[in-house]
Amino acid sequence: YSTAAAIDQEPINPSVSINYTQLLIDGKFVPAVSGKTFPTLDPRTEDVIAHVAEGEAEDVNLAVAAARKAFDEGPWPRMTAYERSRIMLRFADLLEKHNDAIAELETWDNGKPYEQAAKIEIPMVVRLFRYYAGWADKIHGLTVPADGPHHVQTLHEPIGVAGQIIPWNFPLLMYAWKLGPALACGNTIILKTAEQTPLSAMFASKLLYEAGLPQGVLNVISGYGPTAGAALASHMDVDKLAFTGSTETGKIVLELAARSNLKPVTLELGGKSPFIVCEDADVDQAVELAHFALFFNQGQCCCAGSRTYVHESVYDEFVEKAKARALRRIVGDPFKNGIEQGPQIDTEQFEKILGYIRSGVESGATLETGGDRLGSKGYYVQPTVFSNVKDDMLIAKDEIFGPVQSILKFRDLDEVIKRANSTRYGLAAGVFTQNIDTANTLTRALRVGTVWINCFDVFDAAIPFGGYKMSGQGREKGIYGLNNYLQIKAVVTPIKKASW
Ligand code: NAD
Repeated sequence: YSTAAAIDQEPINPSVSINYTQLLIDGKFVPAVSGKTFPTLDPRTEDVIAHVAEGEAEDVNLAVAAARKAFDEGPWPRMTAYERSRIMLRFADLLEKHNDAIAELETWDNGKPYEQAAKIEIPMVVRLFRYYAGWADKIHGLTVPADGPHHVQTLHEPIGVAGQIIPWNFPLLMYAWKLGPALACGNTIILKTAEQTPLSAMFASKLLYEAGLPQGVLNVISGYGPTAGAALASHMDVDKLAFTGSTETGKIVLELAARSNLKPVTLELGGKSPFIVCEDADVDQAVELAHFALFFNQGQCCCAGSRTYVHESVYDEFVEKAKARALRRIVGDPFKNGIEQGPQIDTEQFEKILGYIRSGVESGATLETGGDRLGSKGYYVQPTVFSNVKDDMLIAKDEIFGPVQSILKFRDLDEVIKRANSTRYGLAAGVFTQNIDTANTLTRALRVGTVWINCFDVFDAAIPFGGYKMSGQGREKGIYGLNNYLQIKAVVTPIKKASW
């Protein structure tokens, strides 16, 4: 790896300054009630970037009280939808203005390539807020033709106080997916950031208040899952919970929600998405797309194409080229231009990934390239490719969440459908073929929330996203994402003079 040496050079210093490290409660930045803080680390160096307020149950109580008051007393839910929309549009403008500073925070805290944050992710955040701002004044109920002399209509009302828990892999994008529809519908919010990546949400939330958000509508808590997160999931005064993260934690929050006040829950959880390369595939293109599907964002995507199924007729050529592509992957300081891969998020994920790589070798898969850490500090992992992977190996079953590609061989469509579906997950799938019949067959047979045909990771704000099976419940984004944040009220009025 020609880039390995570069990793041990002095890291590039970001120019953004860190101004917001406290909890955001009732429109004000405040320390935690306990006074506690926790460090957030630079994944390039393992150094502390900043100490951030550690919110716990007491802070969550204050945040929920503020959100409750902002919901019950308004003005937010009773404001005209047009005015809510305008605040969201002003927010989008401010995010756009501060695009590069936010991207720096994202890269510093998360380790993702700066160019990816600045040119793809933050613009997607802006686009998403504009998309949902457009919905705010287009949410309305129906007139229902019921039997009998009754005038029946439905009101689509905000659900109330929404609790939202987000992960660290796309910190501000996950913030946007959660906030966009909730704000458009007129809800108030308590959002808990991931403990690894608290910084960008604090910066952005300051801008949202600058855009005119009424006091208390958004509250942001930094802190750990079992304390702050669990307090939010089990709070009696939270009307709805939205969670993105691991399937394991998804089960916990669903149980906490059920045991407290039965708040409805949407879950966006893990995956083990198949990427299916059919026999008619142009191998060079298929290799490039399969590489992107797995390695994008250091492999830290819930929908990563982490089971690369390749037809036997092109298998050997594919493996050879996939190995060559992984060897060409440019790994290094994510602040440098042209870097494709930065460090993993933290030591826990780093160790977990190296553990899965060992398990792949021990279970008999062929390690084509990679397999170890890169450099001597930070959480850099070599782009790794395994061939001869079998369905029952751990690396083909578990979510690795790292730059480890597993290539499996298949013979015919029926077989690959069965194998692709034999997983507890069902988030997404990639299909690579020029044959429309093959594409149609696979699309209908695969039990997943998204099928990408000859593309991958297309995340337009209008496209719904979510999982079948243990990959989650409900859909985010698009028109479907609004449903999570609305109550439907049926209103029935007798029609006195029904004789016409
Ligand atoms: P996690 O599910 O533990 O964390 C996600 C969020 O949930 C964080 O904000 C965390 O603080 C919170 N949380 C943790 N425990 C909680 C609890 N008991 N109650 C309430 N909230 C709680 O994920 P992780 O530990 O950061 O990563 C572990 C694995 O999860 C990864 O290796 C990966 O497989 C998966 N993951 C998936 C996604 C995704 O987008 N689907 C994102 C991150 C991680």
